[in-house]
Amino acid sequence: MSERVYIGLGSNLAEPRQQLEAALKALSQIPATKVAVVSPLYASDPLGPPDQPRYVNAVAALDTDLEPLALLDALQTIELEQGRVRKDERWGPRTLDLDILLFGEQLIDEPRLTVPHYHMHARAFVLYPLADLAPQLRFPDGRTLPELLTACPFSGLERLS
Ligand code: ATP
Ligand code: MG
Ligand code: MG
Repeated sequence: MSERVYIGLGSNLAEPRQQLEAALKALSQIPATKVAVVSPLYASDPLGPPDQPRYVNAVAALDTDLEPLALLDALQTIELEQGRVRKDERWGPRTLDLDILLFGEQLIDEPRLTVPHYHMHARAFVLYPLADLAPQLRFPDGRTLPELLTACPFSGLERLS
């Protein structure tokens, strides 16, 4: 049975909008996986070092038959294909970031994969596009998206046309 998965996309290098377009195309080509719906694009202030360009973010809903780690492998392959270079600096600029936010109702705690994504609850650039897709979403711990949005101001975020 397939699972509904939410992926957070982000880019702040090398034409971020085109990076996201290319990533969505690549997501649609992952085996046993369909892109169900994609949020509007948002611009956001960078999370880490401030001397980097603003980000473009979106959230995509996928339906997949893959296991979580197989999906992570596919996402990391796409990141590398789009020129992602992993540096020591945390949250530094990148051509493409693909994070698994939610994988059905699953709780995953493995060295390579923590789901729900450990910091999604406090990130406006994740919660607002997610709310465009699933406004009444409930998290595995029982919290709801409206609750989390109340505690997460829209600040630093801009909805792109
Ligand atoms: P953040 O996780 O704070 O958003 P980041 O996305 O920049 O930071 P990455 O460099 O993309 O971090 O990923 C670091 C590692 O996080 C990856 O190698 C991956 O194995 C691991 N990881 C753990 N949980 C997840 C998840 N839910 N989605 C994607 N990667 C994850
Ligand atoms: Mg990330
Ligand atoms: Mg990541």
